Amino acid sequence: MTRPSRRGVCFIISAPSGAGKSTIANALRASEPSLKHSVSVTTRQPRPGEVEGVHYHFRDLENFRKMAEQGDLLEWAEVFGRGYGTPRKPVEEALAAGHDMVFDIDWQGHRLMRQALPDDVVSLFVLPPSLEELERRLHRRASDHPEEIEKRMRAALDEISHWSEFDHVIVNNELDAAITQARSVLQSARQVTRRQTGIADLVKTFTR
Ligand code: 5GP
Repeated sequence: MTRPSRRGVCFIISAPSGAGKSTIANALRASEPSLKHSVSVTTRQPRPGEVEGVHYHFRDLENFRKMAEQGDLLEWAEVFGRGYGTPRKPVEEALAAGHDMVFDIDWQGHRLMRQALPDDVVSLFVLPPSLEELERRLHRRASDHPEEIEKRMRAALDEISHWSEFDHVIVNNELDAAITQARSVLQSARQVTRRQTGIADLVKTFTR
């Protein structure tokens, strides 16, 4: 039996840095290798361990601007003074082929993606259990300098102020529970009626 076709889900996860969104997104992908990850373009430098084409496409500002001008980015925004953007082609291809895609983008990207793909976006905001815990988590990250942490704490409060624009919100108090909650949001998004483009064909065969 072939499964009815459907359009892919554009699953956007946003959070202040340190709330655990990358860990949650990685866990979802680990349990479902067919889940695609949108690899963003950024003008920031790679951090240790980050791989070109896997974590980001690292580009200089000139290249980034060219991509934006040519319409190669579905959305782009300036975050922490650097350019970040979502390449258009892989997203359009994946959704049309019925593949679900996870996006780790900020609130500005979420707003623009909603405008660009209003029927495809399902969004989740991840909150830390407290600001103190967020600060502790940021300090545990060896990759960020103290002034970077301070900057990110201020940015965290700004990001958090947009939580209510999202379809779903979870508090990452306990990681396994947060992963289960994120997974169930994605599962139910897949079953949304308007996404089930193949169901009408299936139902047509239900004649006797
Ligand atoms: P980081 O530099 O820590 O990897 O990411 C910094 C912020 O940029 C995070 O909040 C992340 O969600 C956001 N970000 C990453 N890629 C994109 C993108 O393509 N578009 C937008 N709007 N934000 C992004």
